[in-house]
Amino acid sequence: MSREDEELRLRKLHQYNLLDTPKDDAFDRITRLVSALLDVPIAAITLVDRDRQWFKSEQGLGIEETPRSQSFCAHTMTGHGPMVIKDASADRRFIDNPLVTGYPGIRFYAGVPLRAADVTSLGALCAIDSSPRDIEPHQLKLLADLANLTMEQFELRLLASLDGLTGAMRRSSFMATAARDMVLAAQKGSPLSCLMIDADNFKSLNDQFGHAVGDDALVAIAKAINDQLRRGDSLGRLGGEEFCVSLPGAELSGALSVAERMRAAIAAIRLQTDTGEVGITASFGAAALLSSDSSPSDLIHRADVALYEAKNSGRNRVAA
Ligand code: GH3
Ligand code: MG
Ligand code: MG
Repeated sequence: MSREDEELRLRKLHQYNLLDTPKDDAFDRITRLVSALLDVPIAAITLVDRDRQWFKSEQGLGIEETPRSQSFCAHTMTGHGPMVIKDASADRRFIDNPLVTGYPGIRFYAGVPLRAADVTSLGALCAIDSSPRDIEPHQLKLLADLANLTMEQFELRLLASLDGLTGAMRRSSFMATAARDMVLAAQKGSPLSCLMIDADNFKSLNDQFGHAVGDDALVAIAKAINDQLRRGDSLGRLGGEEFCVSLPGAELSGALSVAERMRAAIAAIRLQTDTGEVGITASFGAAALLSSDSSPSDLIHRADVALYEAKNSGRNRVAA
């Protein structure tokens, strides 16, 4: 896979909003079924992140993640179909793998890629045994069916989490993501910034040119914002013409320059109306995480205060 393809894959994986999320019975049911139907002690739904494999669900492993370099599922993911290894201790790709030489002592492995309709691979569904063995064709078919069910569940959740008009996250899923970004930033001691964005004079755009032009504007604004995001950043539509962006890893100065690029991109939008082209602008409020913040609402509130400032000082600008 080329570097660009991998970056795109990681962006997509992030959009599914699955990494570092809590355990979930819908997925535990699937790994329990794998374990029972294939009669294996270990089963997992594995997501392959940049440097690690993270288990959305696992039976019999008792660990959350391992380095990607040790991941069997990363091999499955890049292959074309299922990967079956009867005895990993006799396979030169895995003979030195710490998961083979040490805990959990993998010998048998069967995995099916978790692949979206657009062929983006997220990881794999796998069955593992600590003794060498084989798998019957009908069992491999069951594993593939369960991988499809897993992927369908991922797709449905993704759809449900997104705003139908703009493709930005709905408020509730954005807030959950922002809360997770905040916990991770606090754990790693890394910065986190937030942007509040509100379209300017949107009511008059609707009134003058109609709701359809207003909708076009919202779609174009979300795209202009999205184009400036990096992997790990998230965009939410909090309300009508109000968006929020979470920027993990960004200091306030970085957030301000991103916001300025977004502002310029939005100001360059030309909307088609019955009476010709019309422009649109938006105002931005930026804020950075403080150690005293106890929830994302604290951070978002400061960005909102800054947004108010941007509105009051003339709109089409960024304030902090
Ligand atoms: P300001 O510059 O102070 O933000 O002024 P504004 O007109 O943008 O602010 P206001 O909150 O008064 O108006 C927001 C408008 O956004 C009102 C509502 O009709 C419109 N709106 C909200 N959701 C949608 C939507 O989904 N589609 C369209 N077309 N308009 C929407
Ligand atoms: Mg507005
Ligand atoms: Mg508003």
